[in-house]
Amino acid sequence: MEQGRLMVCTDTSRKPTGGCLTIAAVTLCLAVTARREAVAQEWVDGRVFGPFVCRAEFSLGPWQGLLAELGQLQRDLVDYLDVPPASQPIELYLFRDKRSYDRFLKRYLPKAPYRRALYIKRQGPGQVFAYRSREFQTDLRHECTHALLHSVLPVVPLWLDEGLAEYFEVPGNQREFDNPHLRTLRWNLRLGIFPKLESLEKKSKVSEMGRSEYRYSWAWVHFMLHGRREARAELVGYLADLRCGAPPGLLSQRLCRRLPKLRSRFIEHFKTCKRGA
Ligand SMILES: [Zn+2]
Repeated sequence: MEQGRLMVCTDTSRKPTGGCLTIAAVTLCLAVTARREAVAQEWVDGRVFGPFVCRAEFSLGPWQGLLAELGQLQRDLVDYLDVPPASQPIELYLFRDKRSYDRFLKRYLPKAPYRRALYIKRQGPGQVFAYRSREFQTDLRHECTHALLHSVLPVVPLWLDEGLAEYFEVPGNQREFDNPHLRTLRWNLRLGIFPKLESLEKKSKVSEMGRSEYRYSWAWVHFMLHGRREARAELVGYLADLRCGAPPGLLSQRLCRRLPKLRSRFIEHFKTCKRGA
């Protein structure tokens, strides 16, 4: 048994059970048995594309589109966030079904918190584990976003990590107008519920992140990527500071300095954010 320093990042925001563990929130010291050699399952297909080294218990032929999307995801993170491409390989382990996935986790990662999909970062390459389910593609985009970010950033605040993963978990052509969060967020704003970024920044534990917090984190990412140019520039600068180890401060304060009347600009953004507007 190998004593590993295990970082687990999972998406369960769509699941009734459990939260999403992220590198910023939880660094778990677990005894794990998923040694590299133990991960040698009977994989029937394997591909290398972009930074991803993928092994699957099923033929990847029908999943070419998804693999291409994951390759594009890497390019999109570079383009949108001005971060460098992943500096080391990211391993994907894809299981034919829940039963096989469960069996693997029970055997090799018995102490990892159970989730539908997992991103694990120890001292070696980041690893993503997922099985074919209705949410398979969403899970992979979400977890791979975490993996790509953490391969080039030493730390990512919990709320931002999840906000970005929620943003990039839908297909590229749905990110701006068709994320399921958008409708609910608009209702929140109509009802006078404003997602305070300062509150999100205080969340340091996965247990503090519920469905609303995922949605609000997504909303701030959406605002920064599709709202005023200055907001996006501030996000890019913030990530650059994280990457080079400069004290980044709080993004909420940076945005307030850069964009006076931040609250009303945020509300206005979601009022006017419409296809073809
Ligand atoms: Zn996540």
